Parts: sequence; C-alpha cells; structure tokens
Amino acid sequence: MIKIKNYINGELIDPKNQHYIDNIDPSRGKVYSQIPSSDKEDVEIAVKASEKAFETWSNMPKEQRSDIMLKVADLIEERMDEFVIAESLDNGKPISLAKAVDIPRAVSNFKFFATAILHYASESHYMEGVGVNYTVRKPLGVVGCISPWNLPLYLFTWKIAPALAAGNCVVAKPSEITPMTAFLLSKACIDAGMPKGVLNIIHGLGQNVGDAITRHPKIKAISFTGGTQTGKTIASIAAPMFKKLSLELGGKNPNIIFADCDFDKALSTTLRSSFANQGQICLCGSRIFIERPIYDKFKQAFVAKVNKTKVSYPTDPDARLGAVVSKSHMEKILSYIDLAKEEGGTILSGGTQVFLEGEYEDGYYIRPTVIEGLDYKCRVNQEEIFGPVVTITPFDTEEEVLMMANSTQYGLSATIWTENLTKAHRVADVVQAGIVWINSWLVRDLRTPFGGVKASGVGREGGFEALHFFTEPKNIFIKMGERGH
Ligand code: NAD
Repeated sequence: MIKIKNYINGELIDPKNQHYIDNIDPSRGKVYSQIPSSDKEDVEIAVKASEKAFETWSNMPKEQRSDIMLKVADLIEERMDEFVIAESLDNGKPISLAKAVDIPRAVSNFKFFATAILHYASESHYMEGVGVNYTVRKPLGVVGCISPWNLPLYLFTWKIAPALAAGNCVVAKPSEITPMTAFLLSKACIDAGMPKGVLNIIHGLGQNVGDAITRHPKIKAISFTGGTQTGKTIASIAAPMFKKLSLELGGKNPNIIFADCDFDKALSTTLRSSFANQGQICLCGSRIFIERPIYDKFKQAFVAKVNKTKVSYPTDPDARLGAVVSKSHMEKILSYIDLAKEEGGTILSGGTQVFLEGEYEDGYYIRPTVIEGLDYKCRVNQEEIFGPVVTITPFDTEEEVLMMANSTQYGLSATIWTENLTKAHRVADVVQAGIVWINSWLVRDLRTPFGGVKASGVGREGGFEALHFFTEPKNIFIKMGERGH
C-alpha cells in the first residue's frame, strides 16, 4: 500500500509521531493508501526550514525563481497521466474531468504565476514640484496555504504558485481527504531542483496541521480555501495575530434564466453548472431560477437531460458523474434530499444513492437530483449542500429574482442567461457575487480577481491580486522641491 510522505526541507519524510491515517478511494469505498497524521512538531520543523530558505529564495533573481517554477510545470505536464489517475482515484471524479480540467489547470497555475512575476511592477506617484513616492513590494516571509478536496491540485497550486513566485517560502497543507497529487507535486519539486525548504507540504488533519499553521507566530499570512465555518475558525485565530488573510469560502450560487435566453445554450450549460464534479465545485449554480413563461418547457427539457446523465465509476469513459468524495459527504448530501422532502419539495429526478456492481459496489454514488416546489427561504435553498443537487424555482419579475438570488448569506458567483444586453448588465450590477457569468459558466481568465462577498470570503485570488496578497507594500517618499512640507 502506498505510504504518502511529508515534504519538508526538500526531503520526503515520515511524520515525527509516526502516525498514519487511512486514505479511501471513494469509487470503491476502500482504503488504498496511508497519509501522515502530522502535528505541530512537523509544522515547526517546516517553518524553521522555510525561514532558513527565505533569504536565498527571496533574493534570487525572479527570472531564476520563474525558471524553477516552469520546470515544475513541465514535470507535471510530462507526468500528466500519473497525476490524472491519482486525482481521479483520490477524489472519485471521472478521469475525463481530471484530464480536461484539474491537472492542466495546475500546470497553468504554475506557468501563469511563474511568468506573471516577470511583469509585476510597483507603482510610483509623482507630486509636482514636491517629490516622488515609489512603492516597493516585498515578499512576506513564510506563508501558510490550506486547501480543500474538491479540486485538489488545482486549488492547491492556485495558492502555492503566486506565493512562491512572489518570493515567499510556503508551508502548505492539502486536504487529508485528497492528498495524493500534492504528494506527486513534492516529487516534481524535488526533480525540478526547487531549493530545499522553499516549499513544504505537510499532510494531516485540519485540527492538527491546519490549526498549527494558522497559529504559528512565524507564519505571516494564511491563504485558505474551504468551508465557511472553517474560515471563521481560522479568522478568529489569525486575525488577532494580525496575519494577512485570504479566505475563499462556501457558496450557494444562483443561476438566473430569463425567458429571452438562448434556450439550448442555457440548457446544456446548466447541466454542467449543476453537476460538474458531482456538483462539488464552489462555483456550481445550485439554485436555478427560471422565468415563468419558459418554466415548464425548461423543466421538462432539463429533467429529460438529467435522467440521461450517466453516473459511473471514474474510469468509465461514458461517466458524466463519478463518486462523491467520502461516505460522510454522501450521507450529508442524502440528508439534504430528505430535508427537501420534509420542506415540501418534489424530487423531479434522482434523489437516491446509486449502487454499482462488482468492485465498485461500496462506492459513494448519488444520482443527479433536481427538486422543485421549495420556498427560497427554506434550508435546502439557503445552506450549501456541495453535491449533485439543484433546486428549480419560477420567477415573474427581475426584482423578485434578485431578491431571491441575494437572500442567502453567500455571494460567490452568479450566472445570468438573457439575450437582452441591457438587462444582463443591470442584473449583473446588483446581484451579490464576486464573479458573474453572462450566457456562460466557468470561463476562467487567470488574470481576473477571483473570490466572493458576504460569507463566501474575504480577499481575492488571481492575477496581480494574488501577488499583492503575497507581498507587503512599502511606500518611500523622496523630496525633490521646496513646495512639500
Ligand atoms: P474544509 O473547510 O472542511 O477543509 C478545507 C481545508 O481546511 C482542509 O485542508 C482541512 O483539513 C483544513 N481544516 C479543517 N479544519 C481546520 C482548522 N480548524 N484549522 C485549519 N485548517 C483546517 O472544507 P472542505 O470540506 O475540504 O471543502 C469544501 C468547502 O470548500 C465547501 O464549502 C466549498 O464551497 C469550499 N470551497 C470554496 C472555494 C472558493 O474558491 N471559494 C473553492 C473550493 C471549495
């Protein structure tokens, strides 16, 4: 059985306490590898290694840092199949998805930030007759990156790459539920010649490793992606220590479909935005609002498509949905389906577990589920389920749909379908979300600010926003003339 190791000070090592936890393949419901159950002792060693490495890494010409990061990207690309298989096995997602989205995006994250840093410039503010301000941006030192299980390597590298590019050293923790590709990344970093201590990857539970990273006084910033509740816990510890915080949290995104939309495009994209990655993408549109004149037509066409969507084991080339990530997560999703019935909803499609045969009989599969007839204020429409479950709700006016769309504590993303340009802009302007897609979904430009409002988070990732986060500005003024004081 594979035993994953920590990557500390350039080496693959056991946790100090020698404790391991089981890693389960969700497609079979079976243990298939062991993960270090590290604790604060391992974090301490990693922080010391990082502090030591910082002097060299932060002073290295950025072209050289960039070259090392590009080498990491090349190695992931060369080992694409190994990464794809590992991601799919660890997470339960169809192999086709890991191949099309997860791993290519991890490569892009490294390439993007390795080259972005070469174009990153600081500002200067000239004061006529007085002098000039120039702002230098310096790396923070040792930073902590903590990521979730839904897009494991994709989100892990989305944090690590800008942190490293900006000259920081990193102590990072992937989700204990999906640690395998982070382990493969450790090997790629060693082979790419990443200097020791620059990146440290520590495996283990959130309450042990994540907590130790959050509390460590030498860690200057925490970049976290995960649940809103965990984000609150992290903020309550890190904010009084005056750490920089970037929190990418949960969502309950509205998908607003107006009667004047391009029906076929709205329909096929809504199938993806509802159920891609088993609905376990923070950007999935889980509340679908449909304008009354097309409600019945859309409902029928959508349900027909959902009924034909194949749920299967991840290596089945026809699988559109694979397994959800864990038994406890499957139970949570099914409990929300039960709750929907109690709250007066009607299940139009799905609503049950799927039992596959043979080696996959103990896997965690759920049919894509469509529910109607729920009040917008009920728990199923307000709480994040993070699974293949959507609700559909009719609306009559723009005001009404915006009121419903904006009624949750969340504000991550929103999707709007209409051919009326003015209406599209008007609705996009007032919908409470950090990211809005009009007549599309999940089109990503890595330069754009990424993040949410309200309980969906604090701060933005992406592009220069991420490089701003991982650097500290210092403004220096130099007097040139007598008009200043
Ligand atoms: P989670 O909050 O349970 O865990 C995320 C990470 O935090 C894991 O690595 C975990 O071990 C760690 N952690 C847990 N407790 C901790 C603690 N006390 N201190 C420090 N670290 C701790 O989230 P999850 O279940 O892995 O992921 C699903 C959630 O992530 C959903 O809510 C989803 O919406 C959210 N998410 C958000 C985005 C975004 O960009 N906004 C992207 C993907 C996922």
